[in-house]
Amino acid sequence: MSLYPLARFVTSAAEPGQLTVDAGREVAFTGRSNAGKSTAINALTGRHQLARVSRTPGRTQLINFFELAPERRLVDLPGYGYARVPDAVRERWSRLLSAYFERRASLRGLMLIVDARRGLAAPDLMMLDWAGGPARGRAAHVLLTKADKLSRSQALKVEREARAQLAGREVGVQLFSAPARLGVEEARAVLERWLAG
Ligand code: GDP
Repeated sequence: MSLYPLARFVTSAAEPGQLTVDAGREVAFTGRSNAGKSTAINALTGRHQLARVSRTPGRTQLINFFELAPERRLVDLPGYGYARVPDAVRERWSRLLSAYFERRASLRGLMLIVDARRGLAAPDLMMLDWAGGPARGRAAHVLLTKADKLSRSQALKVEREARAQLAGREVGVQLFSAPARLGVEEARAVLERWLAG
């Protein structure tokens, strides 16, 4: 069932001047490429075409804005960690994200998508720091995706390790699997809490 029956794609931004109006509340999704971001967005919103838009060739390096409800947005940030991205692209991406994280008043929370088999790595922690954290009124939550590919005990170990790595930061961590429907309600509750108010 769709939690957000009126969800729709609004626009993509390739440069800071193209960001949508900064009003209301929004939650951004980020993660290393292939970590399961599109799958998580689909599972959480119940709207399959949202992530499909973000995957359209040419849009993967853009910031994609979706309206879930009036003045409530989901923002799909470009995946990171591609080894073979030309420097010019990396630089443009970095300028765009810096502008977004530095100025965006409506950004309330960051959903960080991490493949549980890889665990939290340096680029993931950098993204958390870059986004700003509680000092800027922003919460963060890590979804350890593809938990169905690990045994229960392996998955719990990954979760424990992630918590240890995040000690001292106010960041939630949970296991997640779209196909196994593991952690979907928990993650939805976080998303809804951030968007409420
Ligand atoms: P993105 O690049 O981060 O948007 O990643 P995708 O959502 O496209 O997922 C990358 C691949 O991982 C796809 O083949 C997905 O079907 C698969 N995948 C994503 N999430 C899960 C999950 O929770 N469990 C399993 N088994 N596969 C997943």
